[in-house]
Parts: sequence; C-alpha cells; structure tokens
Amino acid sequence: MTMPAKLPARDFEEIRLAEAIERGRCPVCDARQEASYASLRGIAREGATDRGLRAQMDKGLGFCQLHSSGLSKMELQQTSSQLATAVLLDALLRRRLATLKKLAGNDAGNQYRGVAELADPRCPVCAQTAEASTAAVRRLLELSADPAWSGGLGAAEICLEDVYALWTAALAGSKEVQARWSSIVAAQLRRLEALQKTLAEYAHNSTSDRRHLITPEQHAAGAASIRFFGGTPDRDRQR
Ligand SMILES: [Zn+2]
Ligand SMILES: [Zn+2]
Repeated sequence: MTMPAKLPARDFEEIRLAEAIERGRCPVCDARQEASYASLRGIAREGATDRGLRAQMDKGLGFCQLHSSGLSKMELQQTSSQLATAVLLDALLRRRLATLKKLAGNDAGNQYRGVAELADPRCPVCAQTAEASTAAVRRLLELSADPAWSGGLGAAEICLEDVYALWTAALAGSKEVQARWSSIVAAQLRRLEALQKTLAEYAHNSTSDRRHLITPEQHAAGAASIRFFGGTPDRDRQR
C-alpha cells in the first residue's frame, strides 16, 4: 500500500490525525485513545480530591468496567500505587451501595426500571472519548476536501466501527461531503477487497501441511483484519 506524501496539517489535532494515518492506525480509534488516556491521567492525579467529580458522583456518575480498571492501571503506571483509585472507588461504592439498598426495597416494577437506569454507568471517560470520536470524524470529513487527505483516508486503516461512524456523519452532511465520502468509501472497499483476498490465502495456508507457504503479506493480512474488526490497539505510552 502506498500512502500519499505527508498530509498537510494546520494544527495539533490535524498533525495527530495525519500521523495516525501515516502510521497505519485508525485515526478515530487513535483520537479516542488519546482522549481516554488524557482523561484517565487527569482523574488518576486529582480524582480523589476533585470536588467537581465528587459532586457529579453524588448525581450518579460512575465508571464503566473498562475505565475502572483503566484508572487503576493508570495510577499504578504513574505512581506505583493504587491508593487514589481506592479512595475514589470507596466514595463511589458508598454512594452506589445507598442507591442499591434503596432499590432493593422497591417493588419489582421499580426495581426493573431502576436497574435499567443504573446499567448506564454514566462514565466521564466514556463521555470524553465519545466527544473526541465525534470531533475526529467531523474534522476528517472537513479535511477530505483536500485531495491529499481524501486519498489518505481512502487508503487508511480505518476500522469497521469508524467506517460506520464516518459514513453516518457524511450522510448527515452536505451534498459535497457525501460526494467526497463516496469516493473515499469506494477506495476503502477496494482496500478491503484486497485484504480479504490475502486473508483467504492465509486461511488456505493454515493447515499444518501448508503452513510453510504462508507469506509475510498473508501474515500481515491476518493482523490487519483483526485491527479492522477489533480497532487499532492502544499505543505504548511512556509519558
Ligand atoms: Zn477505529
Ligand atoms: Zn468508560
């Protein structure tokens, strides 16, 4: 796959999106991971003492599974301890316990509604990543007016979920955006067709008597298909 020359970028956001594409990463996954990292790092640093966060916790804010464990990992990485997380989770557990006790005393109908309501953790990190995702999609569609970006997006390793996100946003946009997206998606479909072909060859060579026939391209197609369905893996960060 040949990528066009460096993508023109005017600000920090655009530089990051361009870098993601040039490094074979899904630019929307990358933006989400960056936002999640920044958000978790902030909470790991100040969460336990942040009054705003505590006030929001009183109103039912919590952390989803991914970001509860993400928070503890972030703190561990930054301070070699998980004390701040413990303080935060204690505050959270205390509030959640009170809600659950109250709920358990209700009739079945109210419990049903109550549990459904609580199933949404109202995670502040998820809110940040969703916002970053929307902003990245919007920016990429704007940038696609530039032929270099349009070409870059057509060849980029955009994951399936974010193909859908871009597609949906493009359809809600102007006729120009829709036309731009349809040429990008046509290029994406050609990319995926080539990927599928190589993946099929890889799969064909998966039996033990054919395994020696596997080429590096076929092996790479296996990894690319996992990224396509599973999203771009998080970057190694040592900051
Ligand atoms: Zn993605
Ligand atoms: Zn979350």
